[in-house]
Amino acid sequence: MNEWNSKVKGIIDGHVHMDSIAQEAGVLEILAGAGIEKMALVSIQDPAAGAGLAQSLYMKARHPETFYVFAGLNHAAQLTGGRVQTPSLAAQVDEFVAMGCDGIKMIEGKPTSRQHIDIPVTDAYFADYWARVAEVNLPIVWHVNDPEEFWDPERIPGWAKERNWGYGPDDVQKEALYAEVDEVLARHPQLRITFAHFYFLSADLARAARFLDAHPTVGFDLTPGIEMLYNLSRTPEASREFFVKYADRIVFGTDIASEQSVSEAQARAGIVFRWLESADTFRVPATADSLLGPPEDGIIHGMALPDDVLAKIYHDNFVRIAGPQPRALNVSPAVEVCERLAAIAEAMSGVPPAETESGKVAARLLQSPVLMVE
Ligand SMILES: [Zn+2]
Repeated sequence: MNEWNSKVKGIIDGHVHMDSIAQEAGVLEILAGAGIEKMALVSIQDPAAGAGLAQSLYMKARHPETFYVFAGLNHAAQLTGGRVQTPSLAAQVDEFVAMGCDGIKMIEGKPTSRQHIDIPVTDAYFADYWARVAEVNLPIVWHVNDPEEFWDPERIPGWAKERNWGYGPDDVQKEALYAEVDEVLARHPQLRITFAHFYFLSADLARAARFLDAHPTVGFDLTPGIEMLYNLSRTPEASREFFVKYADRIVFGTDIASEQSVSEAQARAGIVFRWLESADTFRVPATADSLLGPPEDGIIHGMALPDDVLAKIYHDNFVRIAGPQPRALNVSPAVEVCERLAAIAEAMSGVPPAETESGKVAARLLQSPVLMVE
């Protein structure tokens, strides 16, 4: 079986990547094909390419009831040693609010991100940012850490190694990253954070429970990391109990990327649907994308969760975090920000603004401020 459709209606996917406005039609096909009603576009910025955020804003403009936007930060000033100017991180938060973004996406905490900018999130660089986020109360989807096997050359999966996601003693270590998060939460205990990929604690449910108990405003998303499904399938009963007990703290997500084919996206969503809803024992289908690894890597045991638990995971929890409808895009501040992001990219890498996602989106938003959907 290559696809597995959910029986539940009104599913919100809390973790999707929009790669380019050229994939607008593709992502709508994915949405329909996978039986998902709304998506949160988590929008990591690539400052030198002028991409990451703009294409998500575009989707919000075009399909205002369907797409939430969680905006990533722009670190161009830091990356260029101050040669290129950006608003402070706290001022960027204010701009996200002004544009009508629904939340913030952070990748600062994935070890590869520390290879680019080696600044702990506890550093003064982030101090005003955290204070501002706490003040405006925007929710965050945050990727912290990676599976522990990524630090072990013997155990890292081939697909992860190929992407240079293997870490050594010179890289930031897993416990250091967790300790930084603890410190941020100690300073700002009201932060509303959904940690992506089960916070990479799927191999230690007792620790996952302690973390959720200690921090009542945070939760986990279920975006694979396929190791999450394999780890939790080792103790299906304990996992099911955990999901029932912490049903209010878990958000559905897929990590679908808009560049994927509909069948890859269906396979990705279908694995998570089937794991949550069925009592089947199964493997990743061969049609799944390469980040999920080959079928022989492991066995998944479905948890057959009750309907009320599924409703919370698929819909209610996300709505509590980000609202029942996406916020409306505010066009003029969005144009202003997109134009500036295009200019930053040009200053960093020489790419002409009109060739960047940011430049294209700014032009389209200006041309047709309302962007009527046909
Ligand atoms: Zn992701």
